[in-house]
Amino acid sequence: MKLILLGPPGAGKGTQAKRLFDRHHLIQLSTGDMLRAEVASGSALGAQAKQVMDAGQLMPDAIVISMIEKRIEQPDCKDGFVLDGFPRTEGQATALDSMLAKHNAKIDGVIELAVDEAALVERISGRYACAKCGAGYHDTFQKPKVAGVCDSCGGTDFTRRKDDNAETVKARLVAYRQQTAPILPYYKGKGLLHQVDGMAELDEVTTAIEQVLTKIKA
Ligand code: AMP
Repeated sequence: MKLILLGPPGAGKGTQAKRLFDRHHLIQLSTGDMLRAEVASGSALGAQAKQVMDAGQLMPDAIVISMIEKRIEQPDCKDGFVLDGFPRTEGQATALDSMLAKHNAKIDGVIELAVDEAALVERISGRYACAKCGAGYHDTFQKPKVAGVCDSCGGTDFTRRKDDNAETVKARLVAYRQQTAPILPYYKGKGLLHQVDGMAELDEVTTAIEQVLTKIKA
């Protein structure tokens, strides 16, 4: 199954994408993670990405489209994937359809995590992740069972994203509103859009996504 998770920063796309991997082995394709890996590698692309990400803006379509195209062609994506953070513009959405059509494939469903924008700044500024395995946590909403120790791998080092500060989050929300939200009608018109309440408890969101998957498979 090929899915897209759509929603503003902090809606829970990354967390739910990881759960979709655990439950259905759908490969998580996160352009944000790919760009952060470029930044960490010190490449020229990483240097450009760092500036754009720190400003809360979007990378050029051509760059992220080619990153996704290369990744989707790898064998592990053959049985299904979940796109997390892509597409983010109309140009990316239409390019995705064309690249899948070349392989006689198509998107099976688009799940929008609908959230209350006012709550997002608090949600995002409290989040952090295990430096070793990437498991996500939150200062208020999702603490590790033992303080300072990752539930998943026992790691004790944690990181916070540099673009998870209030000022950058506001710019990221503007980018979402102006450039990404307009693609919702594109998918609605194709009958692919399913809305899930992203403000519900994590497990309830997962259950609602499972119900959507059942509907898509029927
Ligand atoms: P994310 O981890 O999805 O919140 O992405 C972090 C940042 O990476 C975004 O604020 C953008 O600067 C950049 N980025 C990630 N995905 C895309 C995309 N599909 N198109 C353009 N920029 C992106």
